[in-house]
Amino acid sequence: MEKSKVSLMRCESYDETLVYNAAKKGVDLIGGIAHFVKPGEKIVLKPNILLGAEPGKCVCTHPSVLKAIGKILKEVGANVYYGDSPSVGKCEWHVGRAGLKQAAEELGIKLADFNQGREVVHKDALINKRFVIANGVLDTDGLISLPKLKTHQLTRLTGAVKNQFGCIPGILKTAHHLKIQDPHEFSSMLVDINTLIKPRLYIMDAINAMEGNGPRSGKPKKLGVLLISSDPVALDAVACRIVAFDPEMLPTSKPGKKAGLGTYLAEEIELLGDDINSFIDPSFDMKRKPPASVAGGPFLRFLKNRTMPRPVIDEAKCTKCGTCVNLCPAKPKAVDWKAGDKKSPPVYHYKRCIRCYCCQESCPEEAIAVKEPVLGKIFFRQ
Ligand code: SF4
Ligand code: SF4
Repeated sequence: MEKSKVSLMRCESYDETLVYNAAKKGVDLIGGIAHFVKPGEKIVLKPNILLGAEPGKCVCTHPSVLKAIGKILKEVGANVYYGDSPSVGKCEWHVGRAGLKQAAEELGIKLADFNQGREVVHKDALINKRFVIANGVLDTDGLISLPKLKTHQLTRLTGAVKNQFGCIPGILKTAHHLKIQDPHEFSSMLVDINTLIKPRLYIMDAINAMEGNGPRSGKPKKLGVLLISSDPVALDAVACRIVAFDPEMLPTSKPGKKAGLGTYLAEEIELLGDDINSFIDPSFDMKRKPPASVAGGPFLRFLKNRTMPRPVIDEAKCTKCGTCVNLCPAKPKAVDWKAGDKKSPPVYHYKRCIRCYCCQESCPEEAIAVKEPVLGKIFFRQ
């Protein structure tokens, strides 16, 4: 069986020439761009934007990475577009804050429509057979994914597989959280999106990653590497090894292998480029245990509700903007204004909370942290 190839390219900064050279060499090592894209094809680049933030915060894929891959695609004669769908607000606003708009304009690449979408049936899905996918993805010949390596409270890390969740327009994403609450089943759904869209190539920005309270409120962490592969499961597995996290614990790994999306097994992955050992950083701040399943009987669910990590608002940072309340998919809402009072920070109703952490990842003030109750440390491996 042919191994999945993953290129690791050292890149010490976001200097545009350095990033371009690293990306070009890394793509060449796995077959060259002409192997993935033909002249004249319409290709959409999918960076991780989440909610636009200035590049130094490491929330979004860096503009230099978008520019490098855009340039490589233009050299092969592709028509290049880009986009992502944040849960709140229009993509146009977020790309400006993230510096991506300027980078795209310098290169002459246009924003694709990630605000509206159409329903698509996925007959071979593991778990979810219907998706609404952004028009900007459906109306192109192919997608190239540009994930950012960050911690994530639901799936531990967000990387190559998770990046395509942003192909679902806007707030429709939260409906998936409500429908599929178990993190392992949710991860199977993420795999389904990838087997539906079939991105051609994945180029991960791990030059400066995000550790801690990701994917929006964590801290930048320099890892100094770009990872490139056509196998997102293998790419994520290699990223896991770099941050000293067992790839088997990443909840997309096993369903990704089961669905034929790729492999997380080291013996089935060929590493190219720079030595992985020169990037491994055990000090990367993240939870190194698999996410707990929400499956189980009523008593277990009752106990888990009181022990699973929960979002907590730092009232001093809260500006009462209401984003968390608007986004919460629970019915009735699990974070809401107390007696309708919008002059005080919202309050949580943990019994209703499905632990999707949409509030935490979308708070514009970084006022929400995910904290583990003391009982959780005792009862559950979380
Ligand atoms: S999203 Fe953040 S800042 Fe806005 S109301 Fe909620 S906790 Fe406060
Ligand atoms: S309160 Fe936060 S974590 Fe709980 S269901 Fe609502 S958005 Fe999800």
